[in-house]
Amino acid sequence: MAPEADCVLCGGALAPVLGDVTDTRFGVPGRFTIARCVACGLEQTLPRPSQAALIELYRDHYNFTGTTGRSYLSLRRLLHSPGLYRLWLALDGDISFHRRAGRGRLLDVGCNEGRGLERYRANGFNAEGLELNALAAAAARAKGFVVHETTIEALPREPAYDVVVLSNVLEHALDPRAMLEAIHARLKPGGELWISLPDAESGFARLFGRAWINWHVPFHVTHFTPLRLARLLGETSFSVFDAKLVTPALWVAQSAIARWFPGRPEKQRSAALVIALIAVVRGLLFPWLWWWNRTRRGDCLVMRARRA
Ligand SMILES: [Zn+2]
Repeated sequence: MAPEADCVLCGGALAPVLGDVTDTRFGVPGRFTIARCVACGLEQTLPRPSQAALIELYRDHYNFTGTTGRSYLSLRRLLHSPGLYRLWLALDGDISFHRRAGRGRLLDVGCNEGRGLERYRANGFNAEGLELNALAAAAARAKGFVVHETTIEALPREPAYDVVVLSNVLEHALDPRAMLEAIHARLKPGGELWISLPDAESGFARLFGRAWINWHVPFHVTHFTPLRLARLLGETSFSVFDAKLVTPALWVAQSAIARWFPGRPEKQRSAALVIALIAVVRGLLFPWLWWWNRTRRGDCLVMRARRA
């Protein structure tokens, strides 16, 4: 881990707002602090992992064939059968833009094994991906997609894309401003950036406190709010034209598991527990989710912006 740092966006000083946050998903050791920049207000994780440490963490924990249990994988497969999945997105909310039809060249940043790419292609796009995990990239290529095994900054600096998708990706970046600038340079004039990330101001962050699944330390470097993200998009020459809050039942279930089973991240991969909680959240608590999404307390910010 790198030494204590200043704000990733503006270099301002960081003041702690929440201590003793631990990894509730994979059990990566360490205690982390959520700190807020006194100058620009962006919250971020301390200590901030170095690029080298992050690469190691992703290799060990984000490998899609990795430690995931078999029953959990079959749950995912079931939910991703096309008909059921579309119905589910209509009910639960679409945080990955999988229902959005269109045309042109689309780049999915962090495409993993290409599940999203298949949706984008089915919806009319000429989809390609960016993926640093070699195994995941190979799996996506096996489905017939062009997958660049590099960072966005390393792609040719030319306005090639009509759409770039950052679905729960920007909060992982050590330099989010540089990532948005790099995307800007690779979008055609008028091209669109589709972005989703957890809202650090969500009612669920307050409700669950340090058990909120989306602190996701140390993988989430930054914790944006709608206002802070809109401001950064403006500073990097994007204009926001659509923004809403969505609350996936899975995220609420995961936060509840983290709260009920502290120090036992393996519970997140218990299919029976996850399914039961999703059923309760989506089946019984939906009026509450609906209300919170509409009163700016939903868990995931879904935003679209146009290259100015
Ligand atoms: Zn700052």
